[in-house]
Amino acid sequence: MIDSHTHLDSCERPDAELVAAAEAAGVTRIVTIGTSGASCRAALAAAEDFPQVYAAVGRHPGEATGFDDADLAELQALAAHERCVAIGETGLDYYRDHAPRADQRRAFEAQLELARETGKALVIHTRAAEDETLELLEDRAEGLKVILHCFSMPARIEQCLAHEHWWFSFAGNLTYAKAHELRAAALRVPSERLLVETDSPYLAPQPVRGTANEPANVIHTARALALERRVPYGELEAQLERSAAAAFGW
Ligand SMILES: [Zn+2]
Repeated sequence: MIDSHTHLDSCERPDAELVAAAEAAGVTRIVTIGTSGASCRAALAAAEDFPQVYAAVGRHPGEATGFDDADLAELQALAAHERCVAIGETGLDYYRDHAPRADQRRAFEAQLELARETGKALVIHTRAAEDETLELLEDRAEGLKVILHCFSMPARIEQCLAHEHWWFSFAGNLTYAKAHELRAAALRVPSERLLVETDSPYLAPQPVRGTANEPANVIHTARALALERRVPYGELEAQLERSAAAAFGW
């Protein structure tokens, strides 16, 4: 199984323990996401230390305050690393509003162009900003590989499915009792565009809800997805591994 989105540097346990626990649970690859300069360097260091770990480098919308050309140059340099498989996470977060919206948008547009330059997938975070995020992607992301991280827009599923190079990454909220609409949306996604993730240390899936999440727990979300889609776990696992290989180019 593959955890397509985690934040190892935000988890409490040391990377080595998290990776070992993941491996014991059958998680063979982990993409750890950088959200700031320091966090991107930590992600790349983890990817150098562990063969199972790959990195995405980007500037989270919540960290976008004052994003400028120097920040972009730093991201460009980090993105050239051979273990960097994606750009982001980037996007718009108007729920928390940790950074001015103009800064979030500028950082988002810059990373969109960086994904184009590098040919790497673009990892999207969107919260309370669906219209603007999708509009910007539809205007500017033509031909890019786009990963909708922690997909939570069931009402927009058909609009998103219309874009052939968009992937849908489902997180622990898929397992929650009330998430009927999200599970129905997950049924609509073709297997070659389906991913699962933990977004750890956040958003622990149902059987371990309320605890600090970690990459090993992606199997709970994958199990729920296999049940919902009525495919054996092993078959879903093979599908997700092919889908991730296409998205991340490994
Ligand atoms: Zn994240």
